[in-house]
Order: sequence, then structure tokens, then C-alpha cells
Amino acid sequence: MSIRKHIPQRTCVACRQVKAKRELIRLVRITDRRVEIDSSGKKAGRGTYLCPTPECWEAGLKSGRIEYTLRATLTPENQEQLIKQGETFYKESISGQSK
Ligand SMILES: [Zn+2]
Repeated sequence: MSIRKHIPQRTCVACRQVKAKRELIRLVRITDRRVEIDSSGKKAGRGTYLCPTPECWEAGLKSGRIEYTLRATLTPENQEQLIKQGETFYKESISGQSK
């Protein structure tokens, strides 16, 4: 008998590292002009994953990898919104404890 559980794994679209799904942030395509952060991980639609780090977030969004993977063309507003929302994720995970 094994006590190991199956942990779902996903690949970060920016750095290509395979990580546990819950360590990554899912982005989901809402329309071909709009992508949103899926914090529940359960939204329907084409999705992709990024590490909650400034490096991956910027590489994924600014290099167009997200758009390529999701076959979407983000509006500048949408892209900016995602970058800002991403910052809240990795700032939380870095500064963590205090609130
Ligand atoms: Zn990454």
C-alpha cells in the first residue's frame, strides 16, 4: 500500500517548470479578447498556468506567451489588469505573515 496521493501537476507557461497545481495560478480565457485569473481553479474554458512570481508573471504576460497558449489577443487594459492582479498574489506570498 502506498500513502502517496496523486498530486495534480501543471506546467508554468513562462518557465516551463512542472509544479503542483495549487502552487500555480490559473488563467482562463473568457473570450478571445479577455483572460481572467481563475482563483478557484474551476472556471470553464481554455486555461494556462503561471508561477506566482514577478519573473514568470511578466514573462508570461508581456512576451505574449499567455496569448499564444490561450489563442487570445488581450486588450492593453486586460493585460495591465492581469499584471496588477498578479502582483497581489506574489506580494502576499512574499510578505505573507503580517496583516
Ligand atoms: Zn514559472
